Amino acid sequence: MKAVVLGAGIAGLLAARVLADRCTEVVLVERDSLEAGWRRGVPQGRHLHGLLDRGRTVLEELFPGFTGEAAARGATTAEALVGTRWYLGGARLAATPTGLTSVMATRPLLEAVVRERVLAMPGVRSHTGTVRALVGDAGAVRGVRVTDGTADPAVGDVELTADLVVDATGRGSRAPQWLTDLGFPAPAEERLEVDLGYASALFPRTEGQLDNQSSVIISTGPDGRGGGAIRVEGDRWHVTLAGMLGDHPPTDPTGFTAFAATIAAPDIHALVDGIAPLGEITPHRFRSPLRRRYERLRTVPAGFLVLGDALCSFNPLYAQGMAVAAQQALVLRDCLTAGTTNPDLPARFYAAASAVVDVAWRLSAGSDLANPGVEGTRTVRTRLTNAYVARAHRAAHADPLVARTFLRVGNLVDPPAALLRPTLARRILLPRSANGANEPTG
Ligand SMILES: Cc1cc2nc3c(=O)[nH]c(=O)nc-3n(C[C@H](O)[C@H](O)[C@H](O)COP(=O)(O)OP(=O)(O)OC[C@H]3O[C@@H](n4cnc5c(N)ncnc54)[C@H](O)[C@@H]3O)c2cc1C
Repeated sequence: MKAVVLGAGIAGLLAARVLADRCTEVVLVERDSLEAGWRRGVPQGRHLHGLLDRGRTVLEELFPGFTGEAAARGATTAEALVGTRWYLGGARLAATPTGLTSVMATRPLLEAVVRERVLAMPGVRSHTGTVRALVGDAGAVRGVRVTDGTADPAVGDVELTADLVVDATGRGSRAPQWLTDLGFPAPAEERLEVDLGYASALFPRTEGQLDNQSSVIISTGPDGRGGGAIRVEGDRWHVTLAGMLGDHPPTDPTGFTAFAATIAAPDIHALVDGIAPLGEITPHRFRSPLRRRYERLRTVPAGFLVLGDALCSFNPLYAQGMAVAAQQALVLRDCLTAGTTNPDLPARFYAAASAVVDVAWRLSAGSDLANPGVEGTRTVRTRLTNAYVARAHRAAHADPLVARTFLRVGNLVDPPAALLRPTLARRILLPRSANGANEPTG
């Protein structure tokens, strides 16, 4: 079997990784040249990219030794609540072992570690060019048309044939249009308007800052402002400030520092105040999480599926995108194990992937809807969940078990229902009576 994967971002690389076990040939088509460093095709790569522990463990499974390799190339690793600081609602979560490991690096470093491992696999090769259209007929996709970035313009487009085409071109995926062009329906889309603004830069790090802890995350408060700083390769801080609903952080150093002073805890401001950034402060505007409901389509062509941000692009505040892309790669692997040539492969994939996406989508959309300024339908379930989560936040400041469980759920390691277990519910709903005597348990 031959597969063509469109886009060599995290999702495309991971799809290629699992396809390489089943295919004689996997071609990764990417419009950018795949060199180290920031890439034009991934503008979000200049902003803080936290890797949730669920994503890290999938990467370990697919690339044994991933964490150690990233660390050897300069990434920082730390116990998620001991080596790092988390603020929720302006107060710090109880510092306690969680069993989670944070890997802190720039997105280009994370991507390079993954890419080099994928491209070293037998049968995998990259092809530089921009995908323009799917090639196929009313029953199946049989390839793609690519404008070859390196070719003589006189040569024009090339066609790459494949038994399976996987679209991982990210949020801006043109797959809905490509499908329509072939006579198939496009998926319904769900969005939530958050109008989030990011501003990010690298700063020099000096010994002793943050008491030598490796990161600080200050979750957005009721005013929609927050930020994070992680220690990345080259002994630098990668600092991102964020503001929701149009209240975006400035990109001039003075404005950036002033914005940092307004967020709910002083730690990030202390890292940037009076210190010149190493290069420009870069903005990014993210208007809305976007979920494309491919699993609801009655007809999808054989030989084509969509994953990663092209399937669901999450609010970056919750750092879910790479981990959910990794989970989708495992879903694809399992679907391929059950049969590579079966024409219902895409439908099976979408059904299983939507279950994975659902968990993360509910967590993040629920949190977004806790902000009264975000427009959207708040069901009774959403309101009750958010009232409970608000109490969990408060309990997590003093109670290590609640803090630990909260972080494990947020890292997609434990299911959200873990916060509802009777021991937890008692500590969350009756924090005073539960505190003190109770020590964290496994
Ligand atoms: C501001 C911001 C911050 C984020 N922070 C985090 C975080 O902290 N943690 C986290 O896990 N996730 C984060 N994310 C999400 C994360 O970036 C994505 O979920 C993750 O990169 C997986 O995306 P992807 O591979 O599907 O798409 P992308 O990373 O966008 O990659 C798509 C690739 O396809 C290529 N491409 C596009 N169109 C074509 C075409 N026509 N032909 C050829 N190639 C094409 C692009 O050049 C690119 O290489 C953040 C996102 C944003 C916007």
